[in-house]
Amino acid sequence: MSNYPAEPEFQQAYSELVSTLKASKLFQVHPELENCLPVVSVPERIIQFRVVWEDDKGELHVNTGYRVQFNSALGPYKGGLRFHPTVNLSILKFLGFEQIFKNALTGLSMGGGKGGSDFDPKGKSDSEIRRFCYAFMKELSRHIGGFTDVPAGDIGVGGREVGYMFGAYKSYRNQWEGVLTGKGETWGGSLIRPEATGYGLVYYVQHMIAYASGGKESFAGKRVAISGSGNVAQFAALKALELGATVISLSDSKGALVATGEQGFTEADIAQIAQLKLERKYLPELHQAEECLQSRFKWIPGARPWTHVGKVDIALPSATQNEVNAEEAKALIAAGCKYLAEGSNMGSTQEAIDVYEADRAEKKQNGLWYGPAKAANCGGVAVSGLEMAQNSMRIRWTAEQVDKELAGIMERCFWDCLNTAKEYFDLAEGELPSLVGGANVSGFAKVAKAM
Ligand code: GLU
Repeated sequence: MSNYPAEPEFQQAYSELVSTLKASKLFQVHPELENCLPVVSVPERIIQFRVVWEDDKGELHVNTGYRVQFNSALGPYKGGLRFHPTVNLSILKFLGFEQIFKNALTGLSMGGGKGGSDFDPKGKSDSEIRRFCYAFMKELSRHIGGFTDVPAGDIGVGGREVGYMFGAYKSYRNQWEGVLTGKGETWGGSLIRPEATGYGLVYYVQHMIAYASGGKESFAGKRVAISGSGNVAQFAALKALELGATVISLSDSKGALVATGEQGFTEADIAQIAQLKLERKYLPELHQAEECLQSRFKWIPGARPWTHVGKVDIALPSATQNEVNAEEAKALIAAGCKYLAEGSNMGSTQEAIDVYEADRAEKKQNGLWYGPAKAANCGGVAVSGLEMAQNSMRIRWTAEQVDKELAGIMERCFWDCLNTAKEYFDLAEGELPSLVGGANVSGFAKVAKAM
């Protein structure tokens, strides 16, 4: 029996992995890998620290900072920092655990880690965020480094926060190194890193569609429901538009914005939303202020989009964990959804995954096909890996070069999941292979073999 405190999110991620591994033939073919399971479930190291910072009125605040250095079998710990009031060790352990296998699926040399704080950037001034980032990095800078542990962004941590933390690291350690990814393009960042998670998600789904339809279909003409309105959702929406799809929803923690007519979101709408989010504001402010948005969209307070979107072909949850439950999964299927892939980490509850997997097994080609987060959203950390490579080589690739590499990584990741699923699971006649099964077996096997 474990004497850890209750860690429901971590337990969910661990059980999801273990149940698919046990349903596969992996441990029959490679019995030696089974011993790695209890070992990989415990982080190599967890750092927890106090962060004291001063607000604009000169008052002191205390938050908790964390870094979970989960597994370094494949390379330096790599994974984002999340600043959100819900952050605790269970959340960071689930994210760090998922990150180990996601990073393995990119095919690059990166271990897995995650960190962050319960600090809430919403409603804070730039100066307050800067003072928090410096206070956070004062402690974290002792534990990370370009060859040790390379953090990046996640929810609540974008280019600005990475910038403040990079500046703090340089001043505390007097070292310029690729210690954080997601840096700005004039100071060591990689082109396409901001776009990478959203673009990569769409590239992965392109392969799902092409395979399932025998090359006959693509994003063109499809209705795409997206949740979230941060960096992942914005760039997934822009890439889907570029490929001829209609984007019918976006959302934030206050509710969902859903298209009422045929048109959906335009590039200009998404640019406006990006600006709003940069100002740390919420979607209803935009909807109330903009007459054009009022006429083309309905605002549904406190809701997620899934049960409000009408007919839908593709769903891309891109907000946060457990944002699709079993009821919503059933509603999406009833509304025609054929492809669901996660831009968010652990975007679906276990019960929702069970609904997707049962539909795939039962309806074969006509069922819903599920791209799990650790494969479908690995494009972000993949381009972080390319940023590390560029920093080490002291060179800078063009946007075209990085995008081409990203597309190649997503393509290889798709075929890796698919072929692993075919090899390690028995399939009924006409059944599509389980990408979640393939992702879990392939990601785990890569790490376990290295361990
Ligand atoms: N937070 C992102 C993820 O969940 C990116 C991590 C990184 O670039 O290191 O994969």
